[in-house]
Amino acid sequence: MTHANLKAARTEYKFDVSEMIPGAIVEHISTGVIFVDESGVIVFVNSRAEQSLNVTKEEVIGKRVDMLPLRIPLYKVLSENSRDYNTEMSVNGSVLLVKTSQVAGRGGLPGGELVEIRDITEEKRERRQREEFVAMMTHDLKSPLTVMMGYIQAIRGGMFGKVEQSVLSSIGEIDRSSKRLLGMIEDVLDAYRLEVGLLSIIREVSDIGDLVDCFCREISREAESEGIVFTYSIAENIPAIRVDRKQIVRVFSNLLGNAFKFTPRGGNVSLTLDYNEKNVVLAVTDTGVGISDTDIGRIFNKYYRANSAAGYKGTGLGLAITKAIVDAHNGYVHVESREGEGSRFSVVLPLF
Ligand code: ADP
Repeated sequence: MTHANLKAARTEYKFDVSEMIPGAIVEHISTGVIFVDESGVIVFVNSRAEQSLNVTKEEVIGKRVDMLPLRIPLYKVLSENSRDYNTEMSVNGSVLLVKTSQVAGRGGLPGGELVEIRDITEEKRERRQREEFVAMMTHDLKSPLTVMMGYIQAIRGGMFGKVEQSVLSSIGEIDRSSKRLLGMIEDVLDAYRLEVGLLSIIREVSDIGDLVDCFCREISREAESEGIVFTYSIAENIPAIRVDRKQIVRVFSNLLGNAFKFTPRGGNVSLTLDYNEKNVVLAVTDTGVGISDTDIGRIFNKYYRANSAAGYKGTGLGLAITKAIVDAHNGYVHVESREGEGSRFSVVLPLF
């Protein structure tokens, strides 16, 4: 289309875009704005969108989106389905957050699609730096903690001679707290590994019934000391499935750890492991504090902790990691809960 044609295409419009949106303001805001009418013609592009997408208004206003050259960033942004939710896109080395909303026509003005573009390159870089810093710090904290835990084991094992029972029980408490601290450090490190794609999953054919059984035996001892009634039932002859053993144990451990943590003394926690023709299903049920309807949709987000978790220690990372591990096994996690009554977390893993 020549420049003269473009001009004609623009003047043919029976409305003035500046009537529709206060032009001067939208022109200067720091968000890129593009408006495409119902027939797919681009009718408005502000300066920020020009900068972010490396185009000029003259080049594109009045053109149909499907007539744009496929290789230009503007085409990529407009052809992506980002309706009503934010989509992240990489354009010319920048990270853009694009959101498209449908605008209904009103009072002689046309309807169409409003595209908002936010450049989040700097935000992403800062977030990555913060996470790198936290990962480095936690990694450095892990080394002295591991040394301390080694000495605790040595004392408990009698390497330094006989130790009085009262001292031994205090050392047991130090041991439990150190393990909790190590678990939190591992969570922070894994959340970082997940973010940068370094959390590797190595799947091997495994007897999942056996894995869960060993784990539950160990947990039963802890349950007793925490005053919680723990029961478990594992179906016979569960077919072997391909899982990353270490990471799957992490999943049971996170779910059971939460069930114990959020259930007051005297409560019940149970685990069942069963299978059908397609899946293996693990369910952890507790009679603890439960989760409200408003929180339940968000508990798998990184660092999210429900109001009912106030007063209980944690990082808000366990469920995000659990979900990522289960996703990597092509499974899913399902949660049902009632505030004040308890929760049930189910993990469904495909047999094949
Ligand atoms: P953390 O336990 O470290 O807080 P998680 O990611 O494991 O982090 O869990 C996120 C949030 O989900 C918790 O803070 C809590 O609000 C809620 N939650 C998870 N499991 C349970 C449970 N069994 N009972 C009640 N709330 C739970």
